Amino acid sequence: KGPDPDLVAIAERMATVKHKILVLSGKGGVGKSTFSAQLSFALAGMGLQVGLLDIDICGPSIPKMLGLEGQDIHQSSLGWSPIYLESNLGVMSVGFMLPHPDEAQFLKDVDWGELDYLVHISIAQYLLATGVDGAVVVTTPQEVALADVRKEISFCRKVGIRVLGVVENMSGLRQPLAGFRFVRPGDGADRAPELLALEGCAEVFAASRGGALGMCRDMHVPFLGKVPLDPQLCRAAEEGRSCFEDQRCAASAPAIREIVEKL
Ligand code: ADP
Repeated sequence: KGPDPDLVAIAERMATVKHKILVLSGKGGVGKSTFSAQLSFALAGMGLQVGLLDIDICGPSIPKMLGLEGQDIHQSSLGWSPIYLESNLGVMSVGFMLPHPDEAQFLKDVDWGELDYLVHISIAQYLLATGVDGAVVVTTPQEVALADVRKEISFCRKVGIRVLGVVENMSGLRQPLAGFRFVRPGDGADRAPELLALEGCAEVFAASRGGALGMCRDMHVPFLGKVPLDPQLCRAAEEGRSCFEDQRCAASAPAIREIVEKL
């Protein structure tokens, strides 16, 4: 039996993609799609060529979140064209297509062109077969979410996916009048610098055992940072307006930038 023709076609298409990042979460609703979109905008903002692929068949929220609901996907001789939000940011989602195509089709039939980064939401059998840089795991501070993240990290280890790190989303709410600053090691604080990372934020979810940071220490995986609840971001997503440009997501954008620098 010869090689799987899907795999051959995917490998060919993916040959022009420099980095492939998976965004995973143990649970739904913790912000996997939101973070993926923020990450994609941040990378594109750095002048990189970025693709965002949402194959979350259980509930593709990317089209609504980015104000792209009801958009038609066009086909050219090179394949399906992603929808471009910026000249260097293309988006493809199962939500654009009925009936939903499978993962292999998304990887081999979409005309991604040359990419610096492909941000891929959820687990990816075919993508794995052609090699990924690793996975970013998104969680909230609550123990119920962290318990599932531990399982997800164990799963990644079992199948050989490198865990690039964990992001704690919805980590506090910025106080409108409080100062908001990142504290780096050496700033003279006597507490651990990570604990001060979102100074000026009120805790919303009680993180009983040190939150995501504690879990990262236990499991020996990198902690990438905390992203606060961002009311502007949430409102825009509800209304189907894209709110991922830096200037409009004032509460969460600085945190995202810090995280991108660590990837
Ligand atoms: P998932 O993809 O993990 O199921 P979503 O990204 O769809 O989760 O997020 C779930 C909900 O939470 C959405 O309504 C989204 O707008 C909101 N949300 C996620 N992260 C944040 C944040 N940092 N600030 C405000 N709202 C957020």
